[in-house]
Amino acid sequence: MTKPAIFWFRRDLRLTDHPALDEAAADGRPVLPVFISDPALRNPSGENRLTFLAETLDWLRDATEGALVHRQGSPAVVLRELAAEVGTDTVYATDDHGPYGRGRDTAVGESLAAAGISTHYRDAVYAVPPGSVVTGGGTSYKVFTPFFKAWKSHGWLDPAGPVAADWLDGVTSEPFPSSAPTAAKLPVAGEQAAWDRAEWFLEGPVFDYSVGRDRPGVDGTSRLSPYLKWGTIHPRQLLARLGPDPAEDVFRSELAWREFYAEVLFQRPDSARASFVPKMSGIEVDSGPNTDQHFSAWCQGQTGYPIVDAGMRQLLAEGWMHNRVRMIVASFLVKDLHLDWQRGARWFMKHLVDGDLASNSHGWQWVAGTGTDASPYFRVFNPITQSRKFDPEGEYLRRWLPELAHLSNKQIHEPWTDPVGAPAGYPGPMVDHGKERKESLRRYDELKASWQ
Ligand SMILES: Cc1cc2nc3c(=O)[nH]c(=O)nc-3n(C[C@H](O)[C@H](O)[C@H](O)COP(=O)(O)OP(=O)(O)OC[C@H]3O[C@@H](n4cnc5c(N)ncnc54)[C@H](O)[C@@H]3O)c2cc1C
Repeated sequence: MTKPAIFWFRRDLRLTDHPALDEAAADGRPVLPVFISDPALRNPSGENRLTFLAETLDWLRDATEGALVHRQGSPAVVLRELAAEVGTDTVYATDDHGPYGRGRDTAVGESLAAAGISTHYRDAVYAVPPGSVVTGGGTSYKVFTPFFKAWKSHGWLDPAGPVAADWLDGVTSEPFPSSAPTAAKLPVAGEQAAWDRAEWFLEGPVFDYSVGRDRPGVDGTSRLSPYLKWGTIHPRQLLARLGPDPAEDVFRSELAWREFYAEVLFQRPDSARASFVPKMSGIEVDSGPNTDQHFSAWCQGQTGYPIVDAGMRQLLAEGWMHNRVRMIVASFLVKDLHLDWQRGARWFMKHLVDGDLASNSHGWQWVAGTGTDASPYFRVFNPITQSRKFDPEGEYLRRWLPELAHLSNKQIHEPWTDPVGAPAGYPGPMVDHGKERKESLRRYDELKASWQ
């Protein structure tokens, strides 16, 4: 009888276009699908991400006809036990290029090899595996535009169809994780839900994406990030659907930003927590009791700047925030409140349903001016002009700040200018943006002077 193979699911929770799973299931070999809750990854994840994961696993268990096994603990130990239980000596998984995953996979591979079990890491959660797109000199790109060009000419596999697997059932599972009752209002989990959203986006909004992607008040982006995070949909499946329209190319480039940041993190794992440009870490940040108060007002959406507050309240309510607003709130934390980008990044990781180490740390560093291809430090987002420009009718502000809903399109961006006074229950601006912008530039000049 053919020996089964174990398929270890991680960030590839789907059953179509799945080369690693296809290989595990080759020649009709029975496959035991397993998901391991690893405390090292589980403990730092917030409720929203864990709930979305739990719901995705429920979908995957149904989709594998109940065969999916959930176990908790150290992956090497769990996989050794399972291999002994089902009498196999092969484990397959999709390759993980993140800083933790790489170390874990090497250790698991060595530990299983000592027990006579071979591990096969295949494919990637990216269209182009990190490490593949390098400059002519063999080094990694530090600027997005040439990376994008090289990434496009490198190309990617065409997506494959559904996997035909003979699932090995009847293996004891521990209880599956459950949703947190306090989680935000999250999207529906699972491959069908991902495709429902993708089809809707690719058949219409993508053609207005060049403009729509910057309008937080309209549903103009794909909102596929949670599905991409867990591999419920693979980027090459989306790329294969894009045509030559310039707006589709903008969408293609956004998918490439995700790959660019994965590449940067692959080359510089330290940049997950530390500034990519080390000398930028010397910038003066505020300290003392006021900083906690400031941070808390930012977290709760109580800064008195409507666009910042609307974004932070969207994050609490939905575990997601529009990209334009992510940039504005991040700039406010770093350049108006003079706090560490890392503090904001941790809050994002706690709440984002799409929380992804590479995109988050480097999204923050782009705004803070400490990363690759960064917006220069002296470019400071003005929360009022950004709000006027990207939410001119105040649709986004009214949605998240009902206490401001009655204000005119002119006043809603600066409620303190209303002749009858700021609305009750809404705070006045906690800092003066013009003053803090100058203070931010002063700190940058001081830092630059210290480099000479
Ligand atoms: C401070 C900050 C933190 C961020 N943290 C995260 C994070 O933790 N996880 C995350 O997935 N994205 C993060 N982003 C990037 C971006 O905001 C989200 O990917 C996007 O808002 C998700 O919504 P969407 O799926 O509708 O995006 P769309 O506009 O539809 O884009 C499609 C996909 O392209 C990718 N993408 C788009 N923009 C970016 C970008 N700037 N950087 C990297 N990938 C991008 C995402 O996978 C996204 O799902 C962050 C950006 C900033 C400025």
